[in-house]
Amino acid sequence: MKRCYISDEHLNGFVEALMGRGPVIAPVAKQSRFVFEKLETVDDLMLDYDTTILPPKVAFFPTKQELVTFDGKEAKSCINPTDQVLFGVHPYDIKGIAMSDKFYTDSHVDENYMANRRATTIVGSSVQKHYKHAFFGSVCMEVEVIGHDMFLTRVAGGYVADVLTDKGEALLGLGQFGDATDAQAGEADQVNQAAMENCPEKLENTSAQIRDKMRSSFRSDVWEELSEDCFSCGSCNTVCPTCYCFDVQDEWGLDGVSATRCRTWDSCLTAEFSEVSVQGGCENFREQRAERFRHRFMRKAAYLNEQLGGPACVGCGRCSGACTADIANPVVVINKIMEQ
Ligand code: SF4
Ligand code: SF4
Repeated sequence: MKRCYISDEHLNGFVEALMGRGPVIAPVAKQSRFVFEKLETVDDLMLDYDTTILPPKVAFFPTKQELVTFDGKEAKSCINPTDQVLFGVHPYDIKGIAMSDKFYTDSHVDENYMANRRATTIVGSSVQKHYKHAFFGSVCMEVEVIGHDMFLTRVAGGYVADVLTDKGEALLGLGQFGDATDAQAGEADQVNQAAMENCPEKLENTSAQIRDKMRSSFRSDVWEELSEDCFSCGSCNTVCPTCYCFDVQDEWGLDGVSATRCRTWDSCLTAEFSEVSVQGGCENFREQRAERFRHRFMRKAAYLNEQLGGPACVGCGRCSGACTADIANPVVVINKIMEQ
C-alpha cells in the first residue's frame, strides 16, 4: 500500500478534477442530516458528516432500478453503467459494500448491480464525527475493510491518502499528492484507531458468542416482548447497508403493450414480504410480527456469519435512528438477548 498526503488547500482542487471526469457521489447536507448525492459544487462536500440517511450503495443500487424495457416486440436490458467516483465513504460502509458485492455475486452474478459497481471508484474517508448510535468499534471486527480504491484520513493540515488499487493509483495524477511522512502515517493510524474506540454505543460480547446465543434464543418469548411496539414499517431494513432484498414488478404502459420491469428495495419486517401465493390463495410464512423482528436479528447476527466470516451488521447505527418506535437498536436487542 502506498501512503500519500494532500494538504487542505489542495483537496478541493483534487475533488474538482474528479468532478471534471464524471459524476462524484459524496456526502452532502440535507437539513440536519446527510445524504450521498452527486456533487454539484465542491463546497457541498461534507467530509465531517456523522452518517448518511441511506447507505452509499444507492450509488450503484438505487432504491428503484429499471431492469428491462419491453415495447411489445422486444425486451431490452437497462444496464448502462456510468464511470463515477463514490467519495468519502466511512470504513463501516465500505464493509457494507463488500458484503453487498458478495451477496450479488455468490451464486449468481447480478449484472444490474455489478455493472454499476465495477464502474465505480471508491474513495473512503475517516470518521471525523460519530453518529449518536454508532457501534462499529465493537461489531464486525472479523470482516476486513476491503473493496475501496483510496482512503483519506484526516490529519493535521490535510489528509493521508492510502492507495489500495490501480484505480486509486490513477487518481493521484489529478491532485497535488506527495509522499506521507512517517509522522503523518502514524497520525493517520492513531486517528482511525481512536474512531473505532470512541463509538458512543458498544456490544459487550464477541460475534461468535452472540451468534451462538442468538441461535439458542430462537424459541424464547423475548422476541414477543422486544417487538411489541413494532409497526412493521420496514425502516430498519431500508436504511441498512447490509440488507439486500428487493421486489420485482412489471409496470405496464398506458398502451397496454409496453412495459418496464423494475426492482425496488424490499423489507423483511413488512407483513407482505413473506406472502406467497399457494394454490390460488395466499400464505404468509412469517405472519407474526415477532417472527419478522426475530428474523432480522437472526440474519444479522447468526445466519450470515458463515458466509461472511462475521456478522452482517457493520454497526452504523442507522436502524436505531430510523425506528419511530425506538426498538430496532441492535446494541439494546443483542445485549438483552445475551443477558437471558
Ligand atoms: S443492522 Fe442497523 S446498525 Fe447494523 S448495519 Fe444494518 S442499519 Fe447498520
Ligand atoms: S423495528 Fe422499528 S423500524 Fe423496524 S419495522 Fe419495526 S417499527 Fe419499523
